[in-house]
Amino acid sequence: MPRKPLIAANWKLAKTLTEAKSYLDAFKPELSAQQIDLSQIEVLLAPTSLVLGALVGQAMASGAEADGCPFKRMLAAQNLAAQPEGAYTGEVSAKMVADLGLGYAIIGHSERRSLFGDTDDIVAEKVKRALEAGVAPILCVGETLEQREAGQTDAVIRQQLKIAINSSVEAINAGKNALVIAYEPVWAIGTGQTCDAIEADRVCGMIRGELTQLLGEATANTTRIQYGGSVKPENALELMQQPEIDGALVGGASLDPVSFVKIVAAAQQALALKAQCPVAV
Ligand code: PEP
Repeated sequence: MPRKPLIAANWKLAKTLTEAKSYLDAFKPELSAQQIDLSQIEVLLAPTSLVLGALVGQAMASGAEADGCPFKRMLAAQNLAAQPEGAYTGEVSAKMVADLGLGYAIIGHSERRSLFGDTDDIVAEKVKRALEAGVAPILCVGETLEQREAGQTDAVIRQQLKIAINSSVEAINAGKNALVIAYEPVWAIGTGQTCDAIEADRVCGMIRGELTQLLGEATANTTRIQYGGSVKPENALELMQQPEIDGALVGGASLDPVSFVKIVAAAQQALALKAQCPVAV
């Protein structure tokens, strides 16, 4: 079975509710215009928690969630708390994300790691909380430029994966598609400097090898591994065509609905090309 590509938009600290609504007004018709088949490809938008809650509320008010509201299934959280609940001002718990009916949360993004002190151990706690609540972590891993230049890329990523996953092996193996990995070289995020597609594929293959060690072959083969780092319409097809790359986590280029849908369309095209030339998984 081929892995279903997952293209996720990380809006970071952008888009008010008003801006998000205008985005959606353009995004939904653009998906139709580009003939995106949402049964073949999964698309997520991750706004801030505040806007996320409001958009879910809007979907509920329209009554569309009663039949499994496809739009609600397209929303994801950018982060969640390492603690289940309690005196943690400003945090949002995994249970709250799950209670909104959301299936995914980005965890361990390099901006959380470098700017907000999310260590590997904290990332591991967040992964655990997400899985307990039934939310699939999109676990971000990746090396800095310094680490790449020192030849430490694989070792750094192996360590990040091991710490994040070790205490959640049972929960990951118990759930279908319970985990997504995003390989995001830190030096490629928001810089316009994309990782070479062949090298990104090599690293994603290395990640799958590590997942085989940590989780076993069956889970490793079904786990989706995204690439993130300056993905744009111009480079998306080449990246998405790589056998080990199962989608993208997109920052800057996801802020414009037309450009984001072009990336989704490239992933759909890549899926068709991969089907003509399948690689055993
Ligand atoms: C990101 O923030 O996860 C990201 C990949 O950003 P950008 O696409 O802007 O590099």
